[in-house]
Amino acid sequence: SEHTSTRVNTRSVEAFARAKQVMPGGVNSPVRAFKSVGLNPVYMERGEGSRIYDIDGNSYIDYIASWGPLIMGHAHPEVVEAIKRTAEKGTSFGAPTELETLMAETVCERVPSVDIVRMVNSGTEATMSALRLARGYTKRNRILKFEGSYHGHADSLLIKAGSGVATLGLPDSPGVPEHVAAQTIAVPYNDLESVKLAFERYGEEIACIIVEPIAGNMGVVPPLPGFLQGLRDITRQYGSLLIFDEVMTGFRVGYSCAQGLFGIEPDLTCFGKVIGGGLPVGAYGGKREIMEMIAPSGPIYQAGTLSGNPLAMAAGYTTLKLLTPETYNLLENRASRLQLGFEANARKHGVPVTINRVGSMVCPFFTDTLVVNFDTAKTSNLERFKSYFAHMLDLGVSVAPSQFEGMFVSAVHSNEDIDATIAAHDAALSRL
Ligand code: PMP
Repeated sequence: SEHTSTRVNTRSVEAFARAKQVMPGGVNSPVRAFKSVGLNPVYMERGEGSRIYDIDGNSYIDYIASWGPLIMGHAHPEVVEAIKRTAEKGTSFGAPTELETLMAETVCERVPSVDIVRMVNSGTEATMSALRLARGYTKRNRILKFEGSYHGHADSLLIKAGSGVATLGLPDSPGVPEHVAAQTIAVPYNDLESVKLAFERYGEEIACIIVEPIAGNMGVVPPLPGFLQGLRDITRQYGSLLIFDEVMTGFRVGYSCAQGLFGIEPDLTCFGKVIGGGLPVGAYGGKREIMEMIAPSGPIYQAGTLSGNPLAMAAGYTTLKLLTPETYNLLENRASRLQLGFEANARKHGVPVTINRVGSMVCPFFTDTLVVNFDTAKTSNLERFKSYFAHMLDLGVSVAPSQFEGMFVSAVHSNEDIDATIAAHDAALSRL
């Protein structure tokens, strides 16, 4: 049935029209424009806990969580207080501060594969820098990634990419030089045979495999049993590095990240999102011997005017301190409650839905096919998703405007929030 909205959005419509005059597509990051769902984007005014409030006065239970970072919810009092306290003493020095060491110690303590770590300002910077390091360290140029994975927008990684580029149908971006693209091998996620074939052909030239240990940019796709171990084995065999891109999964799916859940030690790990507690932070770290190749201890260059920024470190460190093992148990309980409710709704309405979930990363695909890679994710009914998305928004629930993104449950979603979300999902499915 046709979607008819009762939600007032006159201010958001005005705001978007104005923004389009001065910003490409009206936004600073493509998915925010709601282009693929054909709606006017919603302009936010404030967030508190599990809720966000738009400039027209509508409120939403939020599962975008700033695309992952806000695992403790919006404007968490302790995080806000830490930022305030830090800001009062100066926002940036371009000189080292002890907060940076505190942050690094916390990451190294929780993630056994990380001996030392370098802070940057985004996930893109983290993966881009880790790639340069892997190439410099191995003296090889080729890299292997997986179709439908998104690792930020560095040239080498915008090949068969997921997330917004998949949503907008631009997986191989213009502007990436052909000779750069030619160094990237992309194979299906969860397909060890294809990885083996690629290594038989190019193994001695492959600097690294970069992988999301739980894929989160083609919707949520967990690794099949043996997949990550297979990547660990084959990279060892050929002298390539294994890079876990934990920008999304890092400190979201467990106290020691996805690598802790699956018991695999990568050579390098990239972080972002949660590690910044809602401020711009990324990081990459790993084996000391490899990381010491980075300047100033080694010759591989990477730097940043605002890297390790005090406000960002304060927000990130405070967030990590709130993430105790108990927090992850709570997240698991809330998210499984959500999954069970959604599954019951789907059965009730006879709508084919496959829900993939790892901890607080949840993805209801509109398909009855098992989703193990990008091709199976694409069996989802995207028209149905579009309609579902619009209904959810009108019913006061904010989910990502794409079938190829997951929902992020936060530690401040109450059981009442979850039940209200399940009720909205029930109503949305009945209107499809
Ligand atoms: N890697 C992964 C796995 C991501 O999910 C993202 C962002 N969605 C990035 C890298 C890029 O991070 P950023 O947007 O902070 O540059």
